[in-house]
Amino acid sequence: MRITILTLFPEMFDGFLSTSIIARAISRGLVTVDFVNYRDFAHDTYRHVDDSPFGGGAGMVMKCQPVLDALNSVKTENCHIILLTPTGTQYGQAMAHNYAAYDHLIILCGHYEGMDARIYSHVDELVSIGDYVLTGGELASMVIADSVIRLLHGSIKEDSANDESYENGLLEYPQYTQPADYEGDKVPEVLLSGDHEKVRKWRLKESLKLTRTKRPDLFARHQLNKEEQKLVYQIEDEEADNKQ
Ligand code: SAM
Repeated sequence: MRITILTLFPEMFDGFLSTSIIARAISRGLVTVDFVNYRDFAHDTYRHVDDSPFGGGAGMVMKCQPVLDALNSVKTENCHIILLTPTGTQYGQAMAHNYAAYDHLIILCGHYEGMDARIYSHVDELVSIGDYVLTGGELASMVIADSVIRLLHGSIKEDSANDESYENGLLEYPQYTQPADYEGDKVPEVLLSGDHEKVRKWRLKESLKLTRTKRPDLFARHQLNKEEQKLVYQIEDEEADNKQ
């Protein structure tokens, strides 16, 4: 897979690309990440990429010409182009899976007050990573690139990806490691039992419990299978008993 990031600040990505799973995915040849700096497409002496907004108001707006020339310089036949803006569709794990299937993903980072709205019709999607405003799209593009790269076959162990939060529509169960007893705070007994089936059931039940209390929106969308429905009845009974 190839990911191209259009940005005014390629230097922000140095640590991101040279660390942990991302560095490993690059060294294994699973992904290449390249950058285009909008400023290299500015025509004036000061390499301006922005100008003041029509209609007045604070801040500067990124201009069509350098942004679209930069984009056109890297477009490929089957590329998928996303533009980062707080006004876009909210990003999630299902979108990460979609993006991981593309050969070439192009991500446009905005800065200042954002981009001239005429640029929007030249991209496939406007995407937001959440309901808050960042200074620029660079951190948002790292969030997207990271979540996509870890889904590429060979990036991480397949089963550790399958169990992760959001993969099956639920939040992940709580995890524990050594020691089994930390200053009197003990790991749930079942995890020390060596009984894989019991551990699997316990984890599924904890996942259901957690999702139901922390993310009722996710829980409402999740189609319970027979086993899950049985576990939810158990959870409800336990809650009722605790109230008495
Ligand atoms: N004036 C814009 C608004 O109110 O919607 C905010 C512009 S923001 C300061 C500058 C750039 O940061 C945006 O063009 C976008 O690329 C990026 N950005 C900021 N918040 C973001 C978010 N939640 N998701 C994705 N990109 C974001």
